[in-house]
Amino acid sequence: MDDPLPQYLLRLLSTAASLTQTDREAALLLLREAQARLWRITPGEGLLSALELEHRFALPLEDWLPESVRLDYTGPLLASGIPTQTCSEMLLELESQQLWEDIQSIVKEVRDLCRIRSDGDGLYRRFRRFLIENPVIESVKAAVVFIPLSRTLNEFYDPIPEHLIADGHLYRCPECGWPMNPQRLEVQCDSAWCRDKHSLYRWDNRRLINLVTNRELKGEVAGTRYMLKGALWKFTLLPGLLELQLAEQLLQHGVEVTLWPNVDRSDLRVKHGGMDLDIDAKVWISPRALGHHLESVRASTLRWIVIPDYQQAHVGWLQSVCPPGLQVFTQSQCIKELTKRAHPF
Ligand SMILES: [Zn+2]
Repeated sequence: MDDPLPQYLLRLLSTAASLTQTDREAALLLLREAQARLWRITPGEGLLSALELEHRFALPLEDWLPESVRLDYTGPLLASGIPTQTCSEMLLELESQQLWEDIQSIVKEVRDLCRIRSDGDGLYRRFRRFLIENPVIESVKAAVVFIPLSRTLNEFYDPIPEHLIADGHLYRCPECGWPMNPQRLEVQCDSAWCRDKHSLYRWDNRRLINLVTNRELKGEVAGTRYMLKGALWKFTLLPGLLELQLAEQLLQHGVEVTLWPNVDRSDLRVKHGGMDLDIDAKVWISPRALGHHLESVRASTLRWIVIPDYQQAHVGWLQSVCPPGLQVFTQSQCIKELTKRAHPF
């Protein structure tokens, strides 16, 4: 799976699907490139026309894409012409690498500034926590955090796009606070982390009802608020939820823990046996994509990678592709192991 072709093809397909209704010309160009690339992978099946390929967007990926190509993604890309959950997930995961690289330089500047300031450690911690706890904000609230860092709101937040507003209301995921897309009949958070915690809804007589609890989710007046940029939501907020949970659980078990120590040398640092152990929390939709990322990590010291419990089945494989020095645990395994080490008797 060193071949970047699957990722590239999936990016083409999901981008084309997302554009079919809004920019047909651009979608067709992508479809043509995708049909040629798909044919290279499955020459025995003949060359599909762009239109035939577009029709397949309504079928589950597992029905027409070879498993080696579709990574862990399942389900159709379009439902009644509207991009599905799967399509959003793929776009976020495959595109966000580029988006992340764009925003990383700004985050690095914040880090560099904090590293030379005497109050930098606290300032950086407040900045990180602010992003995690404020997926949607009013501009006035941001000034307190961004002005001391010489940054502006629009480097981290975007205006909320119209398609996320229904009748002037926002419907935010109760887990992460991110606005869900209310245009779909089935309304869900784009994060598997949140869906695992039942962030799954359906419209019923203009009321948004939770599929598990049957409770209604009320909309909030959208107003003129801003939402965290997608790459920050994915790479800072979502793992941040796991980081905060880990820190809280470890503290409850009497384990000494620091969040984002020394201006972000790791996500959490735990003291045990007179040594420091660094922990990084990873909340990725595709374990395979995470595996590719981990393969390229250079670990100079022992470091634990912690993934959500619902990805437990992938721990063994992820461990097998990790370079020496990295160890993979689920959230529960990590808490159990560190508690045992802190209180051996
Ligand atoms: Zn969510």
